Amino acid sequence: MCGIVGYVGPRVATPLLIEGLKRLEYRGYDSAGVAVMNGAGVETVKESGKIARLEALLASAPIHGTTGIGHTRWATHGPPNQTNAHPHTSQDGTIAVVHNGIIENANVLKKMLEGRGYKFTTDTDTEVIAHLIQECFDGVLEDAVIEALWQVEGTYGIAVISSVDSHKIVAARKGSPLLVGLGEDEHFVASDVSAILAHTRQVVYLDDGEMAVVDRNGYRIIDLNATEISKKVAHIDWDLGQIERGGFAHFMLKEIFEQPQTVENTMRGRLLLDEATSKLGGLNLTDEELLSFNNIVITACGTSWHSALIGESLIEELARVPVEVEYASEFRYRNPIVDERTLCIVISQSGETADTLAAMREAKRRGARTLGIVNVVGSTIARESDGGIYIHAGPEIGVASTKAFTSQVVALLLFTLKLARLRDLSYLRGREVVDGMLALPGQIQQILDRAQEIENIAEEFKRASNFLYLGRGYNFPVALEGALKLKEISYIHAEGYPAAEMKHGPIALIDDLMPVVFVAPHDSVFDKITSNVHEVKARKGRVIAITSREEPALEGKIDYEFRIPETMDLLMPILASVPLQLLAYYVAVMRGANVDQPRNLAKSVTVE
Ligand code: GLU
Repeated sequence: MCGIVGYVGPRVATPLLIEGLKRLEYRGYDSAGVAVMNGAGVETVKESGKIARLEALLASAPIHGTTGIGHTRWATHGPPNQTNAHPHTSQDGTIAVVHNGIIENANVLKKMLEGRGYKFTTDTDTEVIAHLIQECFDGVLEDAVIEALWQVEGTYGIAVISSVDSHKIVAARKGSPLLVGLGEDEHFVASDVSAILAHTRQVVYLDDGEMAVVDRNGYRIIDLNATEISKKVAHIDWDLGQIERGGFAHFMLKEIFEQPQTVENTMRGRLLLDEATSKLGGLNLTDEELLSFNNIVITACGTSWHSALIGESLIEELARVPVEVEYASEFRYRNPIVDERTLCIVISQSGETADTLAAMREAKRRGARTLGIVNVVGSTIARESDGGIYIHAGPEIGVASTKAFTSQVVALLLFTLKLARLRDLSYLRGREVVDGMLALPGQIQQILDRAQEIENIAEEFKRASNFLYLGRGYNFPVALEGALKLKEISYIHAEGYPAAEMKHGPIALIDDLMPVVFVAPHDSVFDKITSNVHEVKARKGRVIAITSREEPALEGKIDYEFRIPETMDLLMPILASVPLQLLAYYVAVMRGANVDQPRNLAKSVTVE
């Protein structure tokens, strides 16, 4: 789930491991630890809470050694305390393991190992791996790991060291990302390239079922039959500047402000102005194939699910193909009607979201063609889908997704445009969409230039304990997303609703303390939402409205207003979500919350 980093080479390992773990902090974690070969054996230091606490321990008792592994944990089995933090060691203390993921048959393996005299000291599923490797060990670490992994069911990214077969790291992957970083006379393993980017840009991504045996001088990739596999070396062109805060107080704010560029990056080279359509190289579908689907299912979780809802309206309006949007976690356990005439689009920023990945695999099993809309290049969804669209938003570090959301909507727009122009969207209307899209980066910039106005509104509402977000049409998912952002990072209870649904329940909540955010730009449902504003005001609710022009119909009914530029209805979600991201951000900061690493949340949810 969280972070793994490993180092083998001539340098002292601990500072490199700590530095790598810090670069993974953004993923959200609850404890951290390192294990290093100190000359005599494997020495492990771990601590609950932030990496700074681990560093303090290491400062008072440094470990010297040049081979080591580190981990940030996001607990799935057992509370996030020091004992359960990784690395976990084998009973005889010779083997240390860090693990991301979940071992599903941990209980069965534990009983078997207890029967052979092993004593368990933690609540984790991971501990079984350490003892199992000891049980299988016969002098060569990779052989023992292979034998152990044959018995393991579940998901893992692991890195293992041994004081008997020292000077090497063995890493293996099934369902949890892992890569090898190639340096000069030194090698790294990591679950995420940002952990090692300061030292190398050359990496080899492991696929499921693959293992890496890494020492100072080289590396081998093998499968669980010990057969050697030849792999391509990938060159990373993200740089460290892109994964650092770049002068902003938080990653989230940096990422909100990057949106003029990221939205542009998603479109770059993909719009064909003369034909009023888009060009998407990664779809791996001929035009005939694209036209052959009877229906489209879009499946995702969280923020990506909100972009999926916008995608549904876009595709149905412009391309006139029936679309269904499903929570990935629900889709996989229903009996969905999906077959070879279904196109299944899956959306995940990380490309590793466990529920989304499982939903995609389920759709594939049923014969559907799958398309991934993901940010992380080379991620599992990107590799396992039949085709896809990279959103090219760059690394998103803040746990609350912002720039990935707007880029996902742009990717869905590009896809819709392509499909719709193959069907019956006219050149003129297609051209209107293209022109509207091209104007978006500048319009987002205009909103960002007035961020101070949102900060002032946030000041008024920072003590609120509830919020309601209302929108209609294309802006209903924007209301959902606005509410999600606020609750994720400020811990204020917030709900998003279709504005007209309010009268079927939530209206009971409205009193003079209830802030109600209306997403009410001048669009085709503006007159309708006006009535909803009146309904709230009649009950003394406090109205914050995102509008796009002076509206006589709202005179005297709005307490706070923020104007966004006008665009087509179907492009409005991209603009309207930006002030709501800022509102959530400022309120959270004013309440002293840890905006980039909200409690209980992880950036990439790789467990069910
Ligand atoms: N399942 C393991 C645990 O609870 C690994 C958690 C993780 O992926 O960080 O310790």
